Amino acid sequence: MKRYDVIVIGGGPAGYAAAIRAAQLGMNVACIDERMDADGRPALGGTCLNVGCIPSKVLLEASAIYDLTRRRYPQWGILTGEIGLDLGAMMAHKQAVVDRMTQGIATLFQANGVRSLSGRGRLLPNREVEFTPADGSEPTTLSADHVVLAAGSRPVEIGAAPLHGDIIVDSTGALGFREVPARLGVIGAGVIGLELGSVWRRLGAEVVLLEAQQEFLNVCDRQIAREALRSFRAQGLDVRLGSRVTGCTVADGVVDLEYQDEQGQTRTERFDRLIVAVGRQSNTDGLCASEAGLLLDEWGFVHVDRHCLTNLPGVHAVGDLVRGPMLAHKGAEEGVMVIERIAGREAAVNYDTIPSVIYTLPEIAWAGATEQGLTATGTAYRSGTFPFAANGRAHAYGETEGMVKVLADATTDRVLGVHMIGPGCSELIATAVVAMEFGASSEDLALTVFAHPTLSEALHEAALGVHGRAIHIAKKK
Ligand code: FAD
Ligand code: NAD
Repeated sequence: MKRYDVIVIGGGPAGYAAAIRAAQLGMNVACIDERMDADGRPALGGTCLNVGCIPSKVLLEASAIYDLTRRRYPQWGILTGEIGLDLGAMMAHKQAVVDRMTQGIATLFQANGVRSLSGRGRLLPNREVEFTPADGSEPTTLSADHVVLAAGSRPVEIGAAPLHGDIIVDSTGALGFREVPARLGVIGAGVIGLELGSVWRRLGAEVVLLEAQQEFLNVCDRQIAREALRSFRAQGLDVRLGSRVTGCTVADGVVDLEYQDEQGQTRTERFDRLIVAVGRQSNTDGLCASEAGLLLDEWGFVHVDRHCLTNLPGVHAVGDLVRGPMLAHKGAEEGVMVIERIAGREAAVNYDTIPSVIYTLPEIAWAGATEQGLTATGTAYRSGTFPFAANGRAHAYGETEGMVKVLADATTDRVLGVHMIGPGCSELIATAVVAMEFGASSEDLALTVFAHPTLSEALHEAALGVHGRAIHIAKKK
């Protein structure tokens, strides 16, 4: 039986990061991944590179440029003649980026000496793994001192709107529409609904988002969520809160959707395309033989301790398969952490400072505690906010919506949370995360020199604002 130091099941951000780190530390490591691209070639990188982070960001970028070129740039004196859309070329561009990124992981595996096994892995008792090759050859049994489960997640499906060809689709289908839908429905106004809804809105679709919750973006700081809702509605994203989808029918290439609105009234809407984006669930089905005895938690995730160790000795689980935010960087950090610990080193993930970003326009980004969270735990805090409307660089970009908010402990002044909505926030949040990771006070940020004119000055001014010292905004009397 072929033996490895480490076998990783799943080649997404959590699994491939673990495999590469293991190889760097001199371990004999294999990574099993079953994903194939449209041409039947192995496609490493998991959900993130193939049908998640990367293709969605390519389309967000391309659609934003299209929209700005049509609506804004003529006002700035940039005249390009009539603007057209070649959706096929945009999709080909997206696929080219995806192919480059996934092949990049294959190259990294090769360069580091990770054995890449294309096919399906299943955990057996005693750290043995059944490997079923994708080429149809006979399954073999492998063994390892350590197994890292990194099988990721898939979209949740709902009975009221089952997937139907290219008409009712999940996020993967929504990344590949062949034409811009005239009328697009989205079930779920969460991260995917807002990002992909924005893409198709910018490309010309009328977009209606039906969200079951009464509260918009309840993971965000309330003030930021209110600002976001106002901005998205102004862009034409028709967000309908408190909407419960009860059923739908597909006929003649359209879908008739029935839902109960906030007042409990039954309403129907006709859409050309419908995206179901109501969350994701972990890929535990068939991952582990029942005799192995792998414990799941009450939400169906693989049960792990804070160092991602499962109930089975020598078996770790990381990424979307386990509790915590479903984010690529969270999974990758967990993957590296477990390998460091297998190598006998001290390692931990600081879950308190994991940044979250929603890549809409304006962008939304945050790390650490929200204002409502601090209130709920009775933590005394001070808050400083600064609007992008008072930031010179934001005016140069033509993106003056939004703000930065810094929350600091009222006694120690330690930064507890930073929340942003506005231009460049996906990059700005990194500065806040570094500050929080180093245990900075708002005073530390206030005493730091930021270049002018940059968007990062908004973070500086928000930190100054914690103690009422912001320069470029008048104090409320
Ligand atoms: P995955 O990326 O899901 O990888 C797991 C891999 O394991 C898959 O390739 C799967 O096919 C394979 N696999 C599963 N079971 C087996 C088995 N038994 N044997 C062999 N192989 C198996 N996150 C961000 O941080 N930023 C973003 O901008 C972002 N955008 C997103 C946009 C969309 C549309 C979606 C859907 C997700 C997005 N995410 C984003 C979330 C991100 O993609 C996930 O958090 C991340 O991919 C999780 O990584 P993972 O390695 O745990 O799992
Ligand atoms: P989500 O949890 O962000 O949003 C799902 C939304 O659907 C929620 O607001 C929920 O209230 C709503 N909902 C649930 N059931 C519903 C129903 N029956 N009818 C109407 N609304 C319903 O999940 P998602 O948008 O599917 O994204 C999945 C995961 O992927 C997220 O956890 C996220 O972390 C990750 N992701 C991250 C990024 C990013 O980092 N920028 C981008 C995309 C996805």
